[in-house]
Amino acid sequence: MNRDTLRVVLRRGRSKAVRRRHPWVFSGSVDRVEGTPGMGDLVAVVSDRGEFLAWGHYSPHSQIRVRLVSWHEDVVPEGADFWRQRLAGAIDLRQELMARSSTTAYRLVYAESDGVPGLIADLYGSTLVVQCLTAGVAARRDLYVELLWELVGARTELTSLYERSDVDVRQREGLAETSGLLKGDEPPSHIIVREHGLSFHVDVRHGHKTGFYLDQRDNRERFRDLIARRAELVAPPDFLNVFAYTGGFAVYGLAAGAASVTNVDTSDEALAVGHENLRLNNLPPAISEDINGDAFQVLRNLRQAGRRFDVIVLDPPKFAFTSRDVRQASRGYKDINMQAMHLLKPGGLLFTYSCSGATSEDLFQKIIFGAALDTGRDVQMIGRMMQATDHPVALTFPEGAYLKGLICRVSL
Ligand code: SAH
Repeated sequence: MNRDTLRVVLRRGRSKAVRRRHPWVFSGSVDRVEGTPGMGDLVAVVSDRGEFLAWGHYSPHSQIRVRLVSWHEDVVPEGADFWRQRLAGAIDLRQELMARSSTTAYRLVYAESDGVPGLIADLYGSTLVVQCLTAGVAARRDLYVELLWELVGARTELTSLYERSDVDVRQREGLAETSGLLKGDEPPSHIIVREHGLSFHVDVRHGHKTGFYLDQRDNRERFRDLIARRAELVAPPDFLNVFAYTGGFAVYGLAAGAASVTNVDTSDEALAVGHENLRLNNLPPAISEDINGDAFQVLRNLRQAGRRFDVIVLDPPKFAFTSRDVRQASRGYKDINMQAMHLLKPGGLLFTYSCSGATSEDLFQKIIFGAALDTGRDVQMIGRMMQATDHPVALTFPEGAYLKGLICRVSL
């Protein structure tokens, strides 16, 4: 720190989380700001006694006032060399994934969990898609773009770098939503990527998140293995895929030998791409059925119609955005899980997920227990799941763990 350093002084007793390397400083912990940092500016965070604690990026409008990037006074996080090293570290972690030709879509940078708060970078074939979620990242966007182009381009063919910062969390940072080409050529309207040897159309311009739910990759593979064994040893299962999006689980299920798949989603476009994805993998569309509708209602309708399934996947969107939503979200999770349990044949398998960070793994298991109790079915847990390995969780930042899932067997 020198005389010109912008400083954020914490209130007394508020240094502990920073010392434990949690990357967020909330506005309530700030006593005062010395100097007038602008959007995303580098600041030093100091204790009430003036001791240096960490360097971070200032977000004047957000409740998360500073996002920390370095805890060493002499490692000032500024300039191309610092960020090159940080981004290269994140990319190195994915080396093993990048080496596999059977998978060509993965997350290369996962924000706080990779030491680059607010920056997401997902690779789809030769297109890199970035999301800039914070003032700190928005202020350094051009630098990150140049560095990612250099680092990713050195390892794999890169033809476009596209921004998908059209997310409402930007509002909290005082940033407008934005998306568009940042470097290279316009990406094709549909990129074809491979995941565990299967192929998928991804629309990076309009698709959800950056185009595809990469976080479910490992869970889809585990699902495929269980379905394949069941198809071979028991019988090809009838599979209900709820919150299907573009048919990620549908493709895996049919490729593993499921007898049929019924996809439920509220998005016509997603279901249509799902159809294309079956075709792309030479899977017969005749054994798939699409239902466009609200899952809460569709599950009830299916039950009333006397339909039953051997396997159900429930992969809903985020129900709880903050801790205030957790109660309401719990009701939603319980409801769809009860409906799904009713629809399973004895011996059926339920793959059930929650991507709400605010709903803990422990709470989620309790909700599923409640659903089993109220449906009067005997349910055993035969597996736990989390987000894929390219979405690591820094132990200092447990908030990075958001996706959780249970594999349940309904016996009676
Ligand atoms: N399982 C998918 C990802 C699901 S994302 C995969 O592996 O790729 C959640 C999906 O739920 C989105 O496609 C969204 O369109 C859909 N959705 C959101 N609310 C819904 C509702 N009430 N009923 C049915 N589908 C819904």
